[in-house]
Amino acid sequence: MKTHVWSVDKFVDNLESYPQITQAANFLKNNEVVAFPTETVYGLGGNAESSDAVAKIFAAKGRPSDNPLIIHIASTEQLAAFVSSIPQTAAVLMDNFWPGPLTIVLNKKEGKLSELATAGLSTVAVRMPDHPIALALIKQSGLPIAAPSANQSGKPSPTLARHVFEDLDGQIAGIVDGGPTGVGVESTVIDCTEAIPVILRPGGVTKEQIEAVIGEVAVDPALKNAEAAPKSPGMKYRHYAPNAPLYLVAGSHAFLQKLVNEQRATGAKVGVLTTEEAVRDYDADLVLPCGRRDQLETVAASLYGTLRAFNESRVDVIFSEIFPETGVGQAIMNRLSKAAANQVITEPVEG
Ligand code: AMP
Ligand code: MG
Repeated sequence: MKTHVWSVDKFVDNLESYPQITQAANFLKNNEVVAFPTETVYGLGGNAESSDAVAKIFAAKGRPSDNPLIIHIASTEQLAAFVSSIPQTAAVLMDNFWPGPLTIVLNKKEGKLSELATAGLSTVAVRMPDHPIALALIKQSGLPIAAPSANQSGKPSPTLARHVFEDLDGQIAGIVDGGPTGVGVESTVIDCTEAIPVILRPGGVTKEQIEAVIGEVAVDPALKNAEAAPKSPGMKYRHYAPNAPLYLVAGSHAFLQKLVNEQRATGAKVGVLTTEEAVRDYDADLVLPCGRRDQLETVAASLYGTLRAFNESRVDVIFSEIFPETGVGQAIMNRLSKAAANQVITEPVEG
């Protein structure tokens, strides 16, 4: 299959009537799948009402079929067709965070969406992305659009059209290239079907921001305990992983450097994931700054691109600094822990 690439400037007026957007929307209406930028990462979109289209998404990504997709909409009017009720907490969250990086799980109205898209669940995860290209495309298609991240399952999510191309060229109908995405980590997923909403996945909207508008929320225990079964099916898979094994290092820069030295002594090519503040503290084969530690938003924005960059230079092992789990740091540490398959090396305390 030839993969079309359409370059679109997200700042132009009247994006909806832009010929590239019309073409991409026509592919969606014909049940083909198309990647497009959102404010979090690039998504791989398909008509959520068509099992034919949704099957193409799962096939292109190699995604396990028990992992449901997020349905993307451009206006709240679209919800009535496939959602059975909107609890007050959900309505307040929509008012405050849509369009934006917050996915809300609601009870599903049967009959409209492809069963494949929701993996047969009685609930559905929905969000309205805050990106002019995504919104124009969804509006122009007139459809609810199922869209997981546009990467091969298991790899780091794409924050550039080039990443999508690397993973899915020849396997999807097209890619709308709208430049780099903004937030850099996926949306927060919150289940509003319970009296006290439950965060199933940390992401672009923080727990603190959510609690400021709806009061106390719960956090799925599986996020802290690797043994517990997650309520969000996708959270059980290894994800976001670079090719080389990744270790998170809880300790000083000197301790991390010691780990690097030990590996290099065995002939291994070693990568270090750090931040702008500390790049000069390390001597390794590849030392990559991932944003600035004093602005965690910049770490989130650079995270997946940095993990992919280690693949390009074929390091044998990667050591990464860890980050405070406040604000977007929760999402950063969630993704890094998954990428590292929970391998953490802690510096022994001197006694
Ligand atoms: P992705 O599309 O890769 O960003 O992943 C979507 C995330 O939302 C996965 O972790 C899914 O398991 C989760 N998800 C989608 N639909 C539901 C649902 N109905 N209930 C709970 N989690 C869901
Ligand atoms: Mg994904």
